[in-house]
Amino acid sequence: MKVNSAEIIISAVKPEQYPVEDLPEFALAGRSNVGKSSFINKMLNRKNLARTSSKPGKTQTLNFYLINEIMHFVDVPGYGYAKVSKKEREAWGKMIETYLKDREQLKAVVQIVDLRHPPSKDDVMMYNFLKHYDIPCIIIATKADKIPKSKWQKHLKVAKETLELDPNDHIILFSSETGQGKDQAWALLQAYM
Ligand code: GDP
Repeated sequence: MKVNSAEIIISAVKPEQYPVEDLPEFALAGRSNVGKSSFINKMLNRKNLARTSSKPGKTQTLNFYLINEIMHFVDVPGYGYAKVSKKEREAWGKMIETYLKDREQLKAVVQIVDLRHPPSKDDVMMYNFLKHYDIPCIIIATKADKIPKSKWQKHLKVAKETLELDPNDHIILFSSETGQGKDQAWALLQAYM
């Protein structure tokens, strides 16, 4: 998709603050530092719309982006950041759960994992949560440029096995450095619109 406009329209912590428009929505989830902001920026052709790597775990809001006036991306705060308190983690969990379970506009969750390493416990938990609630999801295995091409398939296999990926779910090799996987990711998102 050609992105002509993209802007952040609201940072929400509760449902009353979500945008009221009935536009298709895609949530972006991943552990802190996985490359989620870079993914968003790459998909939207913007250098610094989503903040990259400032303070991991610090953005505890759902950030809604309006794209081409026809859809929303929702940046979900990164999970698995060690330095947050139990209380903060619980608040995070509740906010995300409420959003993911109840948001009617939500078409799919884009879950981002790091191709270099097997998905973490938190990655597996998030994926299981999505499966449990029957929320469609697309897995993005990012930072592909950081490992040699000859190892991509092996790493993909590990990711699939660790997540126990549903054979109907897509996993896409991605790189925010090279733009690899971008067209494929957009094609999948558009299929949900
Ligand atoms: P976030 O915390 O999930 O939003 O992660 P960021 O997007 O801030 O990325 C974390 C770090 O990984 C930053 O230093 C990025 O430059 C780097 N990074 C993210 N995606 C890629 C990628 O596809 N390739 C490479 N080489 N580095 C990446």
